[in-house]
Amino acid sequence: MTIDSQIISLAKTWLSSQQQVVFTGAGISTESGIPDFRSKGGLWEKYQPIYYDEFMSSRDARIEYWKRKASLYPNLVAARPNKAHIAVAELHEKGLVKAVVTQNIDGLHQLAGVPNDKVIELHGNTMRVRCMSCDKLESIHDIQQRIEAGDEAPECTCGGFLKPDTISFGQAMPVEETNKAVNLCNSCDFLLVIGSTLLVQPASLLPGYAKQNGAFLAMINLSETPYDGECDIKIEDKAGEVMSALMEHIP
Ligand code: NAD
Repeated sequence: MTIDSQIISLAKTWLSSQQQVVFTGAGISTESGIPDFRSKGGLWEKYQPIYYDEFMSSRDARIEYWKRKASLYPNLVAARPNKAHIAVAELHEKGLVKAVVTQNIDGLHQLAGVPNDKVIELHGNTMRVRCMSCDKLESIHDIQQRIEAGDEAPECTCGGFLKPDTISFGQAMPVEETNKAVNLCNSCDFLLVIGSTLLVQPASLLPGYAKQNGAFLAMINLSETPYDGECDIKIEDKAGEVMSALMEHIP
């Protein structure tokens, strides 16, 4: 099957489905200039992850964590939704996306126009900063200013450690969001996965729930994933190109 015929088939199935869910990972945002984790040139080639326990127990780890965050900040604030985010937002606008479940922390689905309550952020959002003691939220922009002024490991007025409102390795998943994502995958009849290696939980489980429910499973990803054999359609090409070509077949 050529990529063109895969895209036509994807459009037809999308239009004939009732409960369409889109599930995204870091790969949907690489065309916006945000590197993913596991591709060549991805963030894991540069950094080892800092686990939640290390962050909470060591000031040195917090300094290193914030140093990395501060160096990624200019790229992150400059990032704009790409053709794939825009297509997903247009599909939502047409009533063809029930919800977007994302592992991403960049907020680009919302910037593209998907309403906040339709984006299930499994790993939080890096534009917010949370106090690990009193839960107060701050804007990343204010904290970035403090870091640039020399505060290496910013703390809350209550004395708690400030951390971007994202889920670190070793940190508990948000219960409400995880339940919502599981329910969506258990009840959808069409799931499109875009740009995820599907290696970490719950991402590694969600397509399986959709399949068990009899859903059509489609995937757009440049590399292999553990679900390739179970996909009804797997398109190995860039998400932005594929999603804009798809839109030509959606009235
Ligand atoms: P990952 O890095 O493990 O995998 C990304 C996948 O996307 C790879 O399989 C890669 O081949 C594919 N890909 C890359 N560019 C693509 C493109 N243009 N079109 C189609 N496919 C493309 O990402 P993951 O599975 O989402 O796991 C990484 C974790 O890191 C997530 O939990 C996420 O929270 C976090 N993360 C988020 C961002 C972000 O918010 N933009 C960026 C980096 C990491």
